[in-house]
Amino acid sequence: MPTMDSHGKAVSIPVSMSNRYDVLVLGGTAEANQLADVLARRGVAAVLSYAGRTENPKQPPIPFRVGGFGGVEGLVRYILDHRIRVVIDATHPFAAQMSTNAVLACAEAGVKLIALERTPWIEAQGDKWLRVPSLEAAADALGKAPRRVFLGIGRMHLDVFASAPQHAYLVRLIDPPRGKLPLPHLSVVVARGPFTFANDKALFEERRIDVVVAKNSGGAAAEAKILAARKLGLQVVMVDRPAIPARPSVTTIDEVLAVLATEVRLPEPVVSPPASAVPVKQPMRRW
Ligand code: NAP
Repeated sequence: MPTMDSHGKAVSIPVSMSNRYDVLVLGGTAEANQLADVLARRGVAAVLSYAGRTENPKQPPIPFRVGGFGGVEGLVRYILDHRIRVVIDATHPFAAQMSTNAVLACAEAGVKLIALERTPWIEAQGDKWLRVPSLEAAADALGKAPRRVFLGIGRMHLDVFASAPQHAYLVRLIDPPRGKLPLPHLSVVVARGPFTFANDKALFEERRIDVVVAKNSGGAAAEAKILAARKLGLQVVMVDRPAIPARPSVTTIDEVLAVLATEVRLPEPVVSPPASAVPVKQPMRRW
């Protein structure tokens, strides 16, 4: 029988007979979903956790839950209740609160933590990057004169740019906006990554974008905008990653498996991948 496991506003649909997992994957990224596919193929008893920010999260081939745990205390309780032995933090590099909670909770619960981290993007010769420490600093860095700005930062912190209402913003969101967004001159593209260089270059040209604001997420799935800006000679206001307490960290799924092999039983891989491992390409819709 499926168990319900919801917290706060979240709806959760874990499907497990045992309610006991060796591995908890903190997700919300393409890498977490790729890891979930690999863990499913390897037959690892793992559960994937989503924060619940997107309306239709990708259905993974392992049990999953949705919503906050309730801080460090709630995460410790979840780890102990489900007999978790290893937590893999595969959250976005800017999910600093969740990652900090994971460091503290794993220490308290006495379980192993591994972060699966993307390598940050690095400025290449000819790039016009302006590095800033925060989104607030990015809004300031756009300057006083009106510009056409691509905001590749998601939905959560758009209000920060309300302090610079003179610019025309193009925002890319995973879900269609519900209600009014907090910026006066705003248009929205609804699309789910990974994005391609050709599409992002065409989008920037068509919308006559002259500056791109990006978080230094790193990785391939969101890099297209950086490559397109490079090709078109656009300025990039690049927000540096937030600080996260020290923790063991790797950059590839193979390295995660190597660490897991020392902690949990890793059966040999199943040859054919599950159908849900095939990436679904979403059509791009415009508002
Ligand atoms: P955050 O500020 O670090 O986390 C805020 C709170 O949200 C956490 O304290 C936790 O609540 C809950 N939470 C976050 N990730 C969770 C997860 N995977 N499972 C369960 N609860 C989670 O995080 P955020 O920056 O809002 O990001 C939220 C999610 O979106 C993350 O899963 C992240 O991977 C994904 N994401 C973030 C960005 C970004 O730019 N920040 C970009 C793409 C994807 P409790 O304290 O109640 O446990």
